[in-house]
Amino acid sequence: MTYDLAVVGGGILGLAHAWHAARAGMRVAVFERGEVADGASVRNFGMLAIVAQRPGPELDSARATLDSWREVAAGAGLALRQAGCLFVARQDEEMAVLSECAANSDGYGQNFTLLNGDNVHDFAPGLSRTALGGLYSPDAWKVDQCGALAAISGWLAREHGVTFHFGAEVLEAANGRVTTAASEWPAQHIVICGGDDFARLYPEAWTQSGVTSCRLQMLRTAPQPGGWQLDPFVLGGLSVTRYSAFAECASLPALRSHQQSHQADAVANGVHVIAAQEADGSVTLGDSHHYGANAEPDDPGAVDDLILGELDERMTLPERSIAARWVGRYAHLAGQSLLRLHPAPGVTALTVTNGQGMTHGFNVAAQTIGEITEK
Ligand SMILES: Cc1cc2nc3c(=O)[nH]c(=O)nc-3n(C[C@H](O)[C@H](O)[C@H](O)COP(=O)(O)OP(=O)(O)OC[C@H]3O[C@@H](n4cnc5c(N)ncnc54)[C@H](O)[C@@H]3O)c2cc1C
Repeated sequence: MTYDLAVVGGGILGLAHAWHAARAGMRVAVFERGEVADGASVRNFGMLAIVAQRPGPELDSARATLDSWREVAAGAGLALRQAGCLFVARQDEEMAVLSECAANSDGYGQNFTLLNGDNVHDFAPGLSRTALGGLYSPDAWKVDQCGALAAISGWLAREHGVTFHFGAEVLEAANGRVTTAASEWPAQHIVICGGDDFARLYPEAWTQSGVTSCRLQMLRTAPQPGGWQLDPFVLGGLSVTRYSAFAECASLPALRSHQQSHQADAVANGVHVIAAQEADGSVTLGDSHHYGANAEPDDPGAVDDLILGELDERMTLPERSIAARWVGRYAHLAGQSLLRLHPAPGVTALTVTNGQGMTHGFNVAAQTIGEITEK
């Protein structure tokens, strides 16, 4: 059997490529090292963060990916919830950026609403009464990051004829051939979507690009009691300086310098808070950012405390006990959102390098498959 396309990696990027290729009439196989995919795609918030994007190509890419998620979710029977996103301000400098954005909502291509402290408190249960105010956008969607890959893989196999090889680490991908420990398959095109695994396939090409990994700490509470419900993603001021949607705000440098002098530990550990409720009532919390192949904070417990401290500044969860802690990793290349390499004839290797592969993955895949089919 010769495949038109062999995809290495069964994370969201791999599945997005498989879907676009199958729709283009290609015979597709996905090779995933794990018995189930266990990379960044199942370790994240499941946030499709349209709200976080800079106007222009970045925002367009996120919106195009959202359209694909709608189609895929409908086909695969996945829940896709328009959660919205609420930035909660505790400091004047945060409020200044949020107010500036709200005043220029149209220019940002966003649908921002500015809230005062009382509005924030009424917006969602548990939010602080002492917030200065907030910024709300309806443009953030929640997918079930833990269940999505299995649902999409099953649907691609059933409805689109994609072949899946699980437990199949690809040891070599070159010369129109994909090689695992067990077998070899001919493939006309090969797309490598291995996330932040740069060691196995084409390590020299990855090294030359300067790409590295980012390590993130995440937590999840036990399910919240009694139907307690948090609709929006809740974020704070440290997210405002992280997301490119706010990059052009004139008031941003003042916020950044305030954070550097008053929240130095959080800044040093790349901490910001995102709180997102899952379908079982638990709340996913994160995260931190440590850059480098083997990056590891001196005291991971202290990093968790910083994340929880940021949360406590903004909201009180009725159930605060932590049921799960985990680490996720994604590819990082400063100032670049995507790395696409052509390390050998017929081989494309790519990874999303801005930590937003759920938000941009389907659009990235559409471009790759477009390049292949137009050749
Ligand atoms: C903690 C955290 C929070 C995040 N939150 C968000 C968010 O809310 N919204 C958002 O848009 N993005 C978020 N991201 C980023 C997003 O999760 C990633 O950009 C995206 O999941 C990357 O997908 P991927 O398919 O490239 O990589 P992965 O999901 O890492 O998948 C790569 C797969 O390739 C397989 N593989 C690697 N090498 C081989 C090989 N040689 N042979 C066979 N299989 C191989 C691995 O086993 C793995 O399953 C977050 C990331 C993290 C870590």
